[in-house]
Amino acid sequence: TPVLFWFRQDLRLDDNPALRAAIETGQPVVTVFVLDDETPGDMAYGGASHWWLHRSLDSLGNQIKEAGSKLILRRGDANDVIPKLIDDVGANHVFWNRRYAKWQVEADKALKQSLEDDDIKVTSCNGRLLYEPWDIKTKSGGPYRVFTPFWKALKAEGKVRDTVTGIRKMDGPSSYPKSDKLSDWGLLPTKPNWAKSFEEVWEPGEKGAMNALRDFLDGPADSYKDDRNRPDRDGTSRLSPHLHFGEISPVQIWHIVRDKMSAGDVPDSQGDVFLSEVAWREFSYSLIYHNPDMHKKELMEKFRDFPWKQSKKKLEAWQKGQTGYPIVDAGMRQLWREGWMHNRVRMIVGSFLVKHLLLDWREGMMWFWDTLVDADEANNTASWQWIAGCGADAAPYFRIFNPMTQGEKFDPDGDYVRKYVEELKDMPAKHIHTPWEAPKDVLKKAGVELGKTYPEPIVEHKQARQDALDAYQSIK
Ligand code: FAD
Repeated sequence: TPVLFWFRQDLRLDDNPALRAAIETGQPVVTVFVLDDETPGDMAYGGASHWWLHRSLDSLGNQIKEAGSKLILRRGDANDVIPKLIDDVGANHVFWNRRYAKWQVEADKALKQSLEDDDIKVTSCNGRLLYEPWDIKTKSGGPYRVFTPFWKALKAEGKVRDTVTGIRKMDGPSSYPKSDKLSDWGLLPTKPNWAKSFEEVWEPGEKGAMNALRDFLDGPADSYKDDRNRPDRDGTSRLSPHLHFGEISPVQIWHIVRDKMSAGDVPDSQGDVFLSEVAWREFSYSLIYHNPDMHKKELMEKFRDFPWKQSKKKLEAWQKGQTGYPIVDAGMRQLWREGWMHNRVRMIVGSFLVKHLLLDWREGMMWFWDTLVDADEANNTASWQWIAGCGADAAPYFRIFNPMTQGEKFDPDGDYVRKYVEELKDMPAKHIHTPWEAPKDVLKKAGVELGKTYPEPIVEHKQARQDALDAYQSIK
């Protein structure tokens, strides 16, 4: 009798606890991925995630083939598809790794119940986090709302579990159930092919994930603490989409980085900061697990009456990278080009949307959801609430990022702006973050005509700052 393994956000063969458990039954294993556009509601995959998913499933399918089996693809409501597939193959046991967003927890609970009612066994494991969201508790037994004590408690929790031996061989069933063809799912863009430039930057799949970690440890890791805030340098790991799709686990990262630290290959001071960022991800998961409506509702109640404005024009200027603030526009255009944006710049563009433009953080969150290859239900939600000042351990609302000084500090030579905002590529560093203050001859020499080749700022900084403070005053 076969068992069924359901791939979800764990598209890897190494360190996959539930897949390992399925194989250890000694029964033939049928593996499946279900593309479910219905159950997630608003949280259905966005466009950029579709591109990544296609590439990642393609790679996973090949790995499973090499291991001696086949990845079955099915589309539809997973609550119907999984029981139907169990019937098709005559499986008596289903395995999966757990998920933590509200819709996922509810769907998995309901399915587990109905399968168990039909005498089908269900085994679920933790394949996504260092610790389960309910493991790290305050002294009074509740979840943390502040990161630093959470991080301390995580470290004090003791040993992160060992990695689980990878799968190199798999026994499939004597005959396979029917499978969709990945190319029929239409996940890749056609006309226009906006993901063409993604191909140059990313290598989706388990191998690509390990390569990204290796490249990081061989280079930027040494100076991560200082360079992680510099969008003009490749100072971070770019592991986020790999982690989101589960092509690598935080447990693998934890052990590999710690080993490098012990061997003296990565300085402790740098490695520790990197692992603390991985722990921010854990913190986000803890937050969404314990506050299941967080993607819709502000954690801080007073913000639920915030007087957000509505302006399609301003929202579009932000989305297209046409705000007239170079660092903001560079970030939004990096997002178009790569499906990813540097963390420092995510903070700058996020702050600009909610404070300079007074637009609702949910608008930003949903735009990121559609355009990021690492769009993640926990990190995206928690980070947007953080930047809007309404989340846990959030940046206080009245601390308003100044896009000019942020640009000057973190992109001092303007290389990041020049890379993504073509129109400003000949602007000298001195004026690249404030082109509206540049003397006419400087603009002329750089071929910049404000309002024509590059926009004038869509809001005036000082006024916008005051408006934001006034809006905050109204809910205080
Ligand atoms: P590194 O610096 O190399 O960090 C390693 C890993 O740690 C990351 O891959 C990520 O999993 C985790 N991490 C790093 N920084 C953070 C952080 N601030 N919060 C939580 N986890 C972190 N991250 C996502 O994965 N998905 C999102 O949808 C997402 N949306 C964001 C929205 C906003 C408004 C902001 C300000 C941040 C968002 N982040 C999101 C967090 C962060 O920007 C990215 O995780 C990071 O830029 C990914 O790049 P990296 O892999 O090179 O990070």
